[in-house]
Amino acid sequence: MSIAVQQLHKRFGNFTALDNVSLEFPNGELTALLGPSGCGKTTLLRIIAGLEYADSGQVLLDGEDASNRHVRERQVGFVFQHYALFKHMTIFENIAFGLRVKPRHLRPSEAEIKDKVHKLLELVQLDWLADRYPPQLSGGQRQRIALARALAVEPRVLLLDEPFGALDAKVRKELRRWLRRLHDELHVTSIFVTHDQEEALEVADQIVVMNHGKVEQVGAPNEVYQHPATPFVYGFLGNVNLIHGRVHEGILDADGVPFDAPGHAETRDAQGTAYVRPHELEIERFQHGVSGLVVRLRRLHGIGPLAQLELVREDNGQLVEAMISSERVQHLNLQVGDVLVVKPRRLHVFVDSTASAVS
Ligand code: ATP
Repeated sequence: MSIAVQQLHKRFGNFTALDNVSLEFPNGELTALLGPSGCGKTTLLRIIAGLEYADSGQVLLDGEDASNRHVRERQVGFVFQHYALFKHMTIFENIAFGLRVKPRHLRPSEAEIKDKVHKLLELVQLDWLADRYPPQLSGGQRQRIALARALAVEPRVLLLDEPFGALDAKVRKELRRWLRRLHDELHVTSIFVTHDQEEALEVADQIVVMNHGKVEQVGAPNEVYQHPATPFVYGFLGNVNLIHGRVHEGILDADGVPFDAPGHAETRDAQGTAYVRPHELEIERFQHGVSGLVVRLRRLHGIGPLAQLELVREDNGQLVEAMISSERVQHLNLQVGDVLVVKPRRLHVFVDSTASAVS
């Protein structure tokens, strides 16, 4: 089922939780709603589910206005951060629950329920846990059961609100890969709320980045990561160095050091900021005549094939973070205290009317 929301507004008292949100969630795709705490992700999910109503705007399910439809008529399955399994029921009964509470004329027979629950347990690869109770399971296993339970009623939409948020980093990583594989098998239109950019980038077909109740950008993970539309998205999707300067006819002048400012050939004498990711910086030893920012190496931290460099600009003391190969570190024979030159291989310049959101 495809989902669309159009011009959604939602206020809680004086606080605007959603501000003119319009989005499309294509049929069969997994979309991640990504953004900082309080940006409105859960509110949007609840409005799509029918657990909350918008002040204005529409929710369309397969193109039909479902804004006033009751949650039970929307055919959605939920998985929340805090596994809402029934503690006093076996895993089998937890999964069977949604089938047993169906109206009599829709309720499957006992044999059908048994068959279905076992198939779901196989799907989430936990069939050996059928007779256990939730407190006897690990957090990761409980979330897989919560997903099986949500899938039992054959939802046309799956809504996942930080489903792995309460788990430790390693289990979380395993489960998101597992979720992706499961989604590839089932193709249920799914919306996944997270504030973890790595999780969104790895799991989703489409990412929606939100901030302060507004949509900042929508796109495929690679597109959003490679071409952030706003300074906020740039900063939210990974570490970034900001180099301030004046932008004039395609050049950003950072206190006398010029950088190309792609897309700004027409800009005249504006305050601007270059956004550069740590792995997009090139490092050389300082020599007179080499163009770039002059920095001093303050800290060097090797992590396997990569090395993280903490650099301090000689002109203004600003910290610059770089990530280069350990091979390059050896080749240059870098030592703390060395004076170096850095220049971006790739950068994005925003003029400051928009750049103030991150800096
Ligand atoms: P988190 O990642 O922390 O869960 P979120 O992006 O999901 O955040 P929401 O839960 O959608 O954010 O909340 C958005 C804003 O609306 C928050 O500032 C929250 O305090 C406020 N809010 C949400 N529900 C209510 C409510 N029922 N009454 C009043 N304010 C609310």
